[in-house]
Amino acid sequence: MEHTRSQSLALLLALACAAPLAQAAPAPLAPLDAPRRAVMNTPHAPFKIYGNTYYVGTQGLTAVLITSDFGHVLIDGGLPESAPQIAANIATLGFKIGDVKAILNTHVHFDHAGGIAELQRLSGAAVYVRRPSEAVLRTGKTGADDPQAAMKGPQVPAVGTLWIVSDQQLLGVGSNRLQAIATPGHTPGGTSWTWEACEGTNCLKLVFADSLSPMAGPGFLFGNSKTYPAVLTDFEQAFSRLETLPCDVLITPTPEGSNLFERIAQREATPGASLKQPEACKAYAKAGRAALATRLAEEGPAR
Ligand SMILES: [Zn+2]
Repeated sequence: MEHTRSQSLALLLALACAAPLAQAAPAPLAPLDAPRRAVMNTPHAPFKIYGNTYYVGTQGLTAVLITSDFGHVLIDGGLPESAPQIAANIATLGFKIGDVKAILNTHVHFDHAGGIAELQRLSGAAVYVRRPSEAVLRTGKTGADDPQAAMKGPQVPAVGTLWIVSDQQLLGVGSNRLQAIATPGHTPGGTSWTWEACEGTNCLKLVFADSLSPMAGPGFLFGNSKTYPAVLTDFEQAFSRLETLPCDVLITPTPEGSNLFERIAQREATPGASLKQPEACKAYAKAGRAALATRLAEEGPAR
């Protein structure tokens, strides 16, 4: 789960206007209840992002299809109830779910990994994750080191067979080459993915960057965590990796997180317009740093 940009901005504004912050207990999070899930799962028509890369997610949860003549890649699976919609979106675009050979994930929260088990069942694809996410997807149980563990949210449906990828590993699927970029912090196994997509001879570096949101369950302190002691250094790794990664087009786990729909609409409305925004990943990392600093201030002095 993550804040949208508008929520983050509202939070920042609220904090800026608030009385002294010291020792203020971070506000509890809203549960991922049925009405909220229904809003996130509102259908959205699939569309081309760039070249062989398509949006196949819902109104509120990103899922990306990267196609080739020799097999496709799917990144993220939304909620469990998003799986049929993602599969239908793939079919609407004229592709076969059975040609999806690899399913990747940004992070193992219910709203981005919940549909993976069903999408694997429908496609027969191999699911690739980094090591810290493996046990969560295999068992369906949130790790004790997840900052949101104490929220006791719904369990992710367990995924049968998993393959492990390492930081910076290149994954070849059909004619595509994707690279895993470790961006932990939001969860210990958080992973961003990058690949090149081309239209004619114009090729862009696409980055599906994981959430950088410092959200946590009750009692979790980013400044002093017993369950995830490396959380601050992990977040720093994520920020610095995204700041330095070649990045022409930023995609995030929610379309809102990077104004994806607005950027696509702007491109459609402006002949010759490009999606290219080389500073987007840097700005995303900067916003993540600011949100973590705000959260640490909210927690008060380290205890
Ligand atoms: Zn999350």
